[in-house]
Amino acid sequence: MLPWTTYEAMYDAALTQPEQFWLAAAQRVTWKQAPVTACRTRSDGWHDWFPDATLNTCHNAVDRHIENGRGDQAALIWHSCATKERQVVTYRELQGRVAGFAGGLRSLGVGKGDHVLIAMPTMIETAIAMLACARIGAVHVVVFAGYAGPELAYRIDDVAPKVIIIASCSFQGQTPIPSAPALNEALATATHRPQACVIVQREACSASLLPVRDHDFCTLEQSAPAEPVMLRSEDPLYILHTSGTTGNAKGIVRDNGGHAVALALSMDLIYGCKRGDTFFTTSDLGWVVGHSYGVYAPLISGCTSVIVEGGASTSAIRALCHEHAVKCLFTTPTQMRLMRQESRYLSRAILPALARIFVAGEYADPTLLEWARSYFRKPVVNHWWQTETGWSITAHFFGLPKREPVSLMNDIGRPAPGFRPAIVSSMPGEQCGEIVLSLPLPPGCLAGMWKDGAIDIPSAYLDETGRYYRTFDEGMIEANRAVHMLGRSDDVIKVAGRRISGVQIEKIIAAHPAVHACAVVAMPDELRGQRPVAYVAVDSQAACEPSSEEIVARVNEVIGRWVGLKEVRFVRHLPTTVSGKITRKRLLVS
Ligand code: AMP
Repeated sequence: MLPWTTYEAMYDAALTQPEQFWLAAAQRVTWKQAPVTACRTRSDGWHDWFPDATLNTCHNAVDRHIENGRGDQAALIWHSCATKERQVVTYRELQGRVAGFAGGLRSLGVGKGDHVLIAMPTMIETAIAMLACARIGAVHVVVFAGYAGPELAYRIDDVAPKVIIIASCSFQGQTPIPSAPALNEALATATHRPQACVIVQREACSASLLPVRDHDFCTLEQSAPAEPVMLRSEDPLYILHTSGTTGNAKGIVRDNGGHAVALALSMDLIYGCKRGDTFFTTSDLGWVVGHSYGVYAPLISGCTSVIVEGGASTSAIRALCHEHAVKCLFTTPTQMRLMRQESRYLSRAILPALARIFVAGEYADPTLLEWARSYFRKPVVNHWWQTETGWSITAHFFGLPKREPVSLMNDIGRPAPGFRPAIVSSMPGEQCGEIVLSLPLPPGCLAGMWKDGAIDIPSAYLDETGRYYRTFDEGMIEANRAVHMLGRSDDVIKVAGRRISGVQIEKIIAAHPAVHACAVVAMPDELRGQRPVAYVAVDSQAACEPSSEEIVARVNEVIGRWVGLKEVRFVRHLPTTVSGKITRKRLLVS
């Protein structure tokens, strides 16, 4: 039971007595050594959560529920929209498979602190691989299965994994795409060599295993089970790459203890979910929402988690909600737009178990939310997130008995406990500006950044005073603390909820010998929220001009087709400031 009745009481408790607040929240987690201190400032100025405590995240997500009599409850329900397969795995079965695969990873030489790269679509085996790493203290790095060879190679060199895990194929729609070519291409160009590769064989398209290098996932699952190892709260659980202002993807490092506490509290406070409830996220497990709410939060809280491979259709979402009595559905505006497109073909049967729907990841226009409310006849709310924060910065709080006014629900909500947003405006007296967050950030947020083999203070995110974390999102804050989002202040583009830096695409286009200069901007897209459009100025001395097909093909080859670049506009000059910087904003109005 949450001890507060109103939002204000809850938020103020975290503000005025943070140690007490977070030590109480920490009681949702099973510790080997319970924390006596909530937050400690590190020598590098960043913060560690629950620094004197030890735990194992996998034990919290799996074993403790069996110890508490929930072994026969479904832990994970997986549905593939590509193959129409469905699997239900109980907590007891999950424990057996995770412990066995953890033993298999050990037999390949993986131990505490080692990196394991998982390049898989959303499958039960992806969750098993993540939890198995957490069990033995290895750090998982899940990357989107749709990355082309060069993007994969960049991540392999960035984190130097001991083992790489892939599925034999992923799917584009119903078409199987073999994964080995991208892996082989990546390994041919990367300088780092993993000790082994593990392959999940899928019926639609199996892979031939290379002797010595490759191992079969199922065989490794049969290994002698490994017990959870105790870790310090601040030990890393995972690294997750995301795009930022500097172009190259950055590895966000998440800890064990703060992450478990924040997610367990959020399930109760924000989503209003308890043990035994079913939570469904349509997010790919390779995205932060898939990590947090596809795997860790529902499992730590003893819920059943529904995960899907491939873009789920409205009928699949409805069927899954109905058949598995889903209480909370968490999706993206892009997915919701797809549902709206298809909904006219479907009946509007009521889903009695479904209590509420959440969206995040990109701008959701009020008409979309209104449509979803009338279609599902349930509360539909928007909340604001970043890979870096791991859980929502602002939200609506369904665990509190006194609900917020409905008028707030189109907006991204009010700050979650421990988040202290402020506006930095470029003009004095302006109400709008960049949203910054006072340090320390609450538990669950980035514990550091992976860089050159070291975990660094996230200096890339601090303002010049060193007291605020920059979100690079712009907005305004009302007197009742409601936050409104207006968009990004940097060049990050959200394509179907997935983050890509315009600079990352520009670097690929600029490498063409005939390109003099280029700029990539985000244009609104009816279905996918935003789409990249490239402006290219061709070198007047070039022997031949590049075609737009050639440029699109280059980008697809390096990043992957998901990026959705279709439009290349050739221009004579790009608009620049007097100091020569390209003014991308002027392209948006052209
Ligand atoms: P990611 O790290 O991929 O989750 O992307 C985080 C970014 O997505 C944020 O910095 C925002 O720009 C955007 N975003 C997340 N949630 C929302 C939301 N509810 N409304 C508008 N933009 C959002």
